[in-house]
Amino acid sequence: MSEKNRKCDILIIGAGPAGLTAAIYSAWLGLKTVVLETGIAGGRAGLAPKIENFPGFPEGIKGSELVDRMIQQAARFNAEFKSSEEVVGLDLKGEIKKVVSRKQNYEASTLIIATGTQRRKLRVPGETDFLGRGVSYCAVCDGTFFRNKAVAMLVMGRRLRLKLYL
Ligand SMILES: Cc1cc2nc3c(=O)[nH]c(=O)nc-3n(C[C@H](O)[C@H](O)[C@H](O)COP(=O)(O)OP(=O)(O)OC[C@H]3O[C@@H](n4cnc5c(N)ncnc54)[C@H](O)[C@@H]3O)c2cc1C
Repeated sequence: MSEKNRKCDILIIGAGPAGLTAAIYSAWLGLKTVVLETGIAGGRAGLAPKIENFPGFPEGIKGSELVDRMIQQAARFNAEFKSSEEVVGLDLKGEIKKVVSRKQNYEASTLIIATGTQRRKLRVPGETDFLGRGVSYCAVCDGTFFRNKAVAMLVMGRRLRLKLYL
């Protein structure tokens, strides 16, 4: 640990598209902005082979390229990114928010939690290997890639149902 308590105006947990968008805005406004990320910046969008529904890219754009652009945009306004820095504790009682990562303690006037979600895995063979190449967890995001193709859809709720559209 370099400093005991690093101070900033805005502390953002999670560097997916939500955290990156927040970082662009707060850094652009001149606020001292720090983004903490468990892995590497980009979040789940970085895994998308192609994103077709983001405004400004009429031909679509590779997910990793889109998030790289977001990172560059935030960095241009001096947002600071901390990769491999998982947040493990929060103290939100006082006006100053206290955040504990595995590497450092932070204090911020404002905390933004943008930690996304995790997909519930089916644990079937090939599920990880074919992520983004046939396996998808988001019908809204990826449905159009499979237009007029046969798909198997598992709906995980209170009951498990299997629907096969041919
Ligand atoms: C293969 C694939 C294809 C997709 N294609 C599309 C598409 O075409 N169009 C579309 O609109 N959407 C698509 N999506 C969905 C899109 O990626 C997500 O909706 C989007 O990434 C959500 O952004 P987010 O910032 O909310 O969360 P995430 O992207 O999940 O980012 C959250 C970040 O928070 C970090 N984090 C979590 N906990 C902690 C912690 N304790 N400390 C520090 N960091 C933490 C995570 O490591 C992660 O990087 C796709 C997703 C995948 C996986």
